[in-house]
Amino acid sequence: MPRLESALVRLLGPQRVLTSPDALLAWECDGFTVHKSRPRAVVLPESTAEVQAVVRLLADAQVPFVPRGAGTCLSGGPTAGTTAVVLDLSRMRRVLRIETADLFAVVEPGVVNADLTAAVKHLGLHYAPDPSSQTVCTIGGNFAENSGGPHCFKYGMTQDHVLAALVVLPDGSLARLGSPAGSRLPGSVDLTALFCGSEGTFGIATEITVRLCRDQESVRTLLASFATMTAACRTVGDIVAAGLVPAALEILDQATIRAVEASVYRAGYPADAAAVLLVELDGPTAVVGEEAAEVRAAFARNGALRIEEATDPNERKRLWKGRKGAFGAMGRLNTDLYVLDGVVPRTRLEEALAGITAIGAKHGVLMTNVFHAGDGNLHPNISYDGRDAAATARTIAAGHEILQLCVDLGGSISGEHGIGTEKLDHVRMMYDAADLAVMAKVRAVWNPDDRCNPGKALPSRSACAESAKWPAMTARILRDEVRP
Ligand SMILES: Cc1cc2nc3c(=O)[nH]c(=O)nc-3n(C[C@H](O)[C@H](O)[C@H](O)COP(=O)(O)OP(=O)(O)OC[C@H]3O[C@@H](n4cnc5c(N)ncnc54)[C@H](O)[C@@H]3O)c2cc1C
Repeated sequence: MPRLESALVRLLGPQRVLTSPDALLAWECDGFTVHKSRPRAVVLPESTAEVQAVVRLLADAQVPFVPRGAGTCLSGGPTAGTTAVVLDLSRMRRVLRIETADLFAVVEPGVVNADLTAAVKHLGLHYAPDPSSQTVCTIGGNFAENSGGPHCFKYGMTQDHVLAALVVLPDGSLARLGSPAGSRLPGSVDLTALFCGSEGTFGIATEITVRLCRDQESVRTLLASFATMTAACRTVGDIVAAGLVPAALEILDQATIRAVEASVYRAGYPADAAAVLLVELDGPTAVVGEEAAEVRAAFARNGALRIEEATDPNERKRLWKGRKGAFGAMGRLNTDLYVLDGVVPRTRLEEALAGITAIGAKHGVLMTNVFHAGDGNLHPNISYDGRDAAATARTIAAGHEILQLCVDLGGSISGEHGIGTEKLDHVRMMYDAADLAVMAKVRAVWNPDDRCNPGKALPSRSACAESAKWPAMTARILRDEVRP
């Protein structure tokens, strides 16, 4: 066994150091299955001290490393090159502290998002950001990706909910970011916010302090179906224009509805509708009652075919079941799923959806759409057979055009899934060399020798070296080198 691996085994024991090719298979990709690569090794630390000790060994050996939570990322963020060691943090899953008066919790990074809410539910509290993957994804992954979710329209993204963090830097030293009292101290740089969304390239968060929210007095969940996607999108515009801020505003298109209704996530959505719009309102009972009336009026004005409202918690669960299970349901459509993530201004949703349909038809790909309509955050999904190279190429080409469309409509190439390796080719749709140079300098302060999750999020020389197996991307990046 090579020296580094022997040292890791001495530190963690043989059960928590994986090196055989078979064992490493489960870590060869995340939810973006186009890019695959087995890491050099996977280690399973159980404490901050163990993470520090591993990172110090890797620093001494000048070996790159990649932090990983549950691996549900959809942009290749935790996928490691063959020379890198993965630090899988899923065994660090303790809720360390719950402060009910000050409304925060301190958690280890491997705590599953939904488990945190489950741990504080009896106190009338919850953790607000709710990615659709929340029953699996970790708070550490959410922090690194600045994840969103259906309820982030009203409550804000992960960045608005992380108050502080303990971070192991790439040389093995510890940094404390922020404070439970709030990270935005006058005169200081908000390092917590800077770390949030850095996709594992700034260090490894080993303790995260998050804001807890009190449950609202009243929650009302409504679902309307429409004969056209345009009507559904216009209803969203009307609701927001009326000054309402629903907790969630989610749209599913017909292809998604049909996939859901044919699956175990069946929710009783009308299969003949072109789109359904799920609206959740929360707040004081009287206010929510008035808002529900306004939402119903917007449904009617836009010709809703059918309106349903949950009358008890089980009904609410049913209405959400189809939305939360939509990606799972798409597993029925083909062997692989490419989940895209782009943003357009809310007022351009209709144009974007029409454009996406046209791009899908042009490339002959099977497209479904389920999206956070309130945020203009689109998720066009392409179901394809990853064993078919031509189908994969058509899928990637369609994805590229869709992201260009989002940018052309005044939006962006990612709302919440990050850049990872997936979008290295697309970053320059939004940023020029000067913009990227600033970002590279900021990263270099945290990660000076670029060993911490190299090749992610910013097109650079090391991105090329790490991802040599992704040739089209590499060739283009090498041609237009941007790293200062
Ligand atoms: C079905 C499905 C639905 C989804 N829905 C949503 C959604 O609604 N909203 C949304 O935003 N995303 C969504 N996602 C994407 C994904 O779940 C999120 O990006 C999530 O935050 C990833 O968490 P994870 O624990 O799986 O992290 P991983 O995938 O393991 O890692 C993600 C990134 O975080 C880094 N990282 C992980 N842990 C740490 C740490 N402790 N310190 C530093 N860096 C770390 C990794 O290096 C990697 O770059 C969805 C994914 C799936 C499969």
